[in-house]
Amino acid sequence: MEVNRFMANLEMKHPGEHEYLQAVREVISSIEKVYNEHPEFDKAGILERIVEPDRIFIFKVPWVDDAGNIRVNTGYRIQFNNAIGPYKGGLRFHASVNPSILKFLGFEQTFKNALTTLPMGGAKGGSDFSPKGKSAAEVQRFCHNFMLELWRNIGPDTDIPAGDIGVSGREIGYMYAMYKKLARVNSGVFTGKALGFGGSLVRPEATGYGCLYFVNQMLETKGMSIEGKTVAISGFGNVAWGAALKATRMGAKVVTLSGPDGYIYDEAGLDDEKIAYMLELRASNNDVIAPYAKKFKAEFIPGKKPWERKVDVALPCATQNELNLQDAKNLLSNGVICVGEVSNMGCTAEASDAFVESRILFAPGKAVNAGGVATSGLEMTQNAMHLSWTAEEVDQKLRQIMSAIHDQCALYGKEADGYINYVKGANVAGFMKVAKSMMDQGYIS
Ligand code: NDP
Repeated sequence: MEVNRFMANLEMKHPGEHEYLQAVREVISSIEKVYNEHPEFDKAGILERIVEPDRIFIFKVPWVDDAGNIRVNTGYRIQFNNAIGPYKGGLRFHASVNPSILKFLGFEQTFKNALTTLPMGGAKGGSDFSPKGKSAAEVQRFCHNFMLELWRNIGPDTDIPAGDIGVSGREIGYMYAMYKKLARVNSGVFTGKALGFGGSLVRPEATGYGCLYFVNQMLETKGMSIEGKTVAISGFGNVAWGAALKATRMGAKVVTLSGPDGYIYDEAGLDDEKIAYMLELRASNNDVIAPYAKKFKAEFIPGKKPWERKVDVALPCATQNELNLQDAKNLLSNGVICVGEVSNMGCTAEASDAFVESRILFAPGKAVNAGGVATSGLEMTQNAMHLSWTAEEVDQKLRQIMSAIHDQCALYGKEADGYINYVKGANVAGFMKVAKSMMDQGYIS
């Protein structure tokens, strides 16, 4: 296999699917060498099979707005690969959603889930419907209509959706209720449920917590820790909140948050009150961060991203390609020590390359943010066993899983000069697990 030739064919087949092609190129560039050491993979067409989803469901979702108008959005579910377990991955509700974005997310999810050590395949779905600016009644009607179509294609042993951008506990509750009505089973088919009906303690915090455990372990390889470090976070959603909470609890100082309107710089650092306010701001159906600056007398920088600040650790927590080459150069010239991609593909390819080439600690989303889906896996286990673990039990398992992911990255990513290339390590470890499982199951997997 030769990367450029393979990509040229894929680009011809899927023109314009930029995010999907970007994600595939990143993975196959990392695995090229190891793939070519296994001629049996090539003979079995593993690469051609692994980059294509098993199937994609696309459906229209009509719903009625508060003024009585019928509106129509598009719904998707991409079942990417189930070689190592049932399809598993979140639903994203955001105006920007399209097949390319969901294919990149489903592709990444396949390898991320393999890294968690749990038996979960990869999937992703969602809609170009954005809950932002909609009333709760509108969101509920949309969720119900979305499920009217999707319910046939999911199930606790086949495909288990969860949340992502624009889908949190509220949307999961509405969708789960409609699923139960239609399927007439009370199985834990969704993860990210509220605690009262099968949700897991620590699931809302899990992606951010897992990120901090992973980042701390990266710093430990250099004899450092997160304690006392200055941290830049982007976004102010679910993942940003969990990351800010854990970073602060571990003794770091979080100085930035951001929204589509700009970013805030809070020199004093976040504390419990400010972190609780992040939730308030989200719940207000607001998509601006500026009110934080006013409330806590922090600096607000309109239209800019936090990566221009001098920090030790940078954690992109909002969306794909939110940190570009110029941002990477700014962070590097300001002496950043560690960058953990918490959003999926948060860094452009050029930014990731710049971090790896400069030999700073840098890890990709599929490793850093895997604590979210790992805890979803723990929620599935609790549902299947009809019991609930304590927060300490879940947190303990989450720590073990993040540590196992770190060790796999270190095993497959260590280079001749001793540098741990986490991008390569995560991609090779995830790929090898899925590829070997596909080989074991013959050509229909
Ligand atoms: P939320 O919806 O809670 O927050 C997302 C944040 O990103 C918001 O601040 C949002 O602002 C911003 N954002 C979303 N899309 C865009 C865009 N196109 N341009 C600029 N800003 C944008 O989502 P989560 O916190 O759950 O997810 C954040 C990231 O973490 C995503 O990349 C997601 O895939 C990833 N992730 C999430 C997991 C989870 O458990 N939730 C697990 C693993 C990864 P606004 O709403 O105003 O657009």
